Amino acid sequence: MKKTVLITGASRGIGRETAKILAANNFNVAINYYKSEEEAEKLYCQLLDMKCDVIKVQGDVRNRVQVDNMINIIYRRFGNIDILVNNAGVAQQKLFTDISEDDWNLMFDVNIKGIFNCCQSVLPKMINSKKGKIINISSIWGITGSSCEVHYSASKAAVIGFTKALAKEVGPSNIQVNCVAPGIIETDMNSHLDASAMEELKSNTPLGVVGSARDIAEVVLFLASNKANFITGQVISPNGGFVI
Ligand code: NAP
Repeated sequence: MKKTVLITGASRGIGRETAKILAANNFNVAINYYKSEEEAEKLYCQLLDMKCDVIKVQGDVRNRVQVDNMINIIYRRFGNIDILVNNAGVAQQKLFTDISEDDWNLMFDVNIKGIFNCCQSVLPKMINSKKGKIINISSIWGITGSSCEVHYSASKAAVIGFTKALAKEVGPSNIQVNCVAPGIIETDMNSHLDASAMEELKSNTPLGVVGSARDIAEVVLFLASNKANFITGQVISPNGGFVI
């Protein structure tokens, strides 16, 4: 039987590429998006062309009611969610002394409370059926910290702690919880970086390149597959050697 995956923030970047690779590997795909309706519709049509069983659901991961509605819509369509990819995220660059309370709350509400909401909503059914996989997207900055991104780094570090703790708690129910902590990836999130900043990042990366969304999607595909059944509570960091 085909497995169903929900990918949050699948309208653009890493989430979109993850949706494509999972569709190509025979998963039913639920695309969550927040504001990018047009991009989500385009992806939806692409997946339909690939003969994927796909649904797109609008929803703000910060909002528990919207998350529960989204999960129920997916249950009605597919009956189950086998794999949850918590990818939705926001970033911001600011001096620590300039971070407002709203800035702080935005990072934590989307990047970690969003994961809390989605996990709490899908876990009762996963625990009942004694199977499931949760893949949380953190960042290298959650491991090393990044200057001018204290709130982002702290929220992404929280994702790692969350992953490890939840993996211990739900392991006995045969649910794997893992974390992917990407390095610098060419998506809209890094569109503020000019050519010289990109060159500098490449020159500081042993492999000499920045990553693509596809590089991350490949790792998510592996963690979503049965090949990763013995892996839980881990942080895998595809980063070209930028952080070792
Ligand atoms: P992106 O291109 O900016 O895409 C972000 C996605 O998150 C969009 O699909 C957006 O949906 C969604 N999103 C934002 N707020 C949301 C909300 N409240 N509810 C639901 N969805 C929401 O970013 P990306 O580079 O692909 O990043 C994806 C993940 O990878 C993030 O968690 C990010 O922190 C992490 N990451 C990225 C990099 C990098 O270098 N790019 C490195 C490390 C980690 P809409 O457009 O529909 O609003």
